[in-house]
Amino acid sequence: MSHYLDHAATTPMRRCAVEALATHAGLLNPGGQYASGREARRVLEESREQIAELLGADPIEVIFTASGTEGDNIAIQGLYAASPLRRVVSTPIEHSAVRETISHLPGVESELLPLDEGGHVSELSLLDEPAALATSMWANNETGAIQPVAEIAARAAAAGTPVHIDAVQVVGKLPVDFHALGATTLAASAHKFGGPRGVGVLLARRSPAPSAVLFGGGQERGIRPGTSNVAGAAATAAALAEASAEMEAEEARLRALRERLREGILARVSDVEVHTAEPALPTHLHLSFPGAVGDSLIMLLDAAGVEASTGSACSQGVNRASHVLEAMGVSLESARGALRLTLGRTTTQADIDAVLGVLPRVVERARAAGV
Ligand code: PLP
Repeated sequence: MSHYLDHAATTPMRRCAVEALATHAGLLNPGGQYASGREARRVLEESREQIAELLGADPIEVIFTASGTEGDNIAIQGLYAASPLRRVVSTPIEHSAVRETISHLPGVESELLPLDEGGHVSELSLLDEPAALATSMWANNETGAIQPVAEIAARAAAAGTPVHIDAVQVVGKLPVDFHALGATTLAASAHKFGGPRGVGVLLARRSPAPSAVLFGGGQERGIRPGTSNVAGAAATAAALAEASAEMEAEEARLRALRERLREGILARVSDVEVHTAEPALPTHLHLSFPGAVGDSLIMLLDAAGVEASTGSACSQGVNRASHVLEAMGVSLESARGALRLTLGRTTTQADIDAVLGVLPRVVERARAAGV
């Protein structure tokens, strides 16, 4: 039996989500002006209302998308298109769904907020000058570092700048209140909290709203046209409801397991660098074993029945050194030996003990193999 410690990449679907998918898989087009269309529309709108309530938004602000990546693209491209300004402020540690999107904005003048050694945005004065938009992730997908998103939203709002928050790692794990946060748009992804892969949620205020960057039948306020995935929406609502109900208990349980993992590794392996610094998600532990290569660690762990990742972008099976660790000032040698262990709803103490059992030998072998 393998031990899955890559929940930040994706997490198994919850039974309630599988059931909602199966129950509603046969529904037809919610745009249809007849009984079967009305039935599909009812399920879609009930799912929208449930998600809105769980995330502190109005139902009309909930836009179903096909992924977190799509939500990030629609929000960033759309807010940029809606503004006469070309300046965009973000952070050096964004997911490629945000980084790549910004780099492809025509004529963009991109600026990055500074970061401290723990991987947290440390200074906000760049937000005092108006920009087309500002964007920040709520928590980093590699380290789990939680960013000061409420401060970022308030500071940008004071300059009249719309704010997009990539909350893909946070929704379902920490409480989210969209209105209290004060952001303009917020992206989430169902497969990170036990919903189906390939369904996202974009929260978008009525004003300022992102201009349309996709064109078609006008569904989802014209912001995300295309025939709706009703069963996916229902499964997402079911997963988010369950995740929200068990959030507090899970946060405490996972934090304790993560600490057991962190302390166990530090006690058993020499020369370890821990990159996850508080405030951080309870699910993440990002470390480096200088002298080893992350890819070797992953392969040796896999052979020993432990599934983990280096946490950084993977291109055709080869990992590049992480831009997140680089921005945190981690040396290249350390960044190359990075390992991300992420916990989730199905993680047990047995998983943690299994990792602690195999990791010392894995690190020894990866270090012997060299760089
Ligand atoms: N943003 C962050 C912070 C993520 O961690 C991810 C997924 O890893 C994404 C965006 C993209 O989400 P999706 O896989 O739904 O496209």
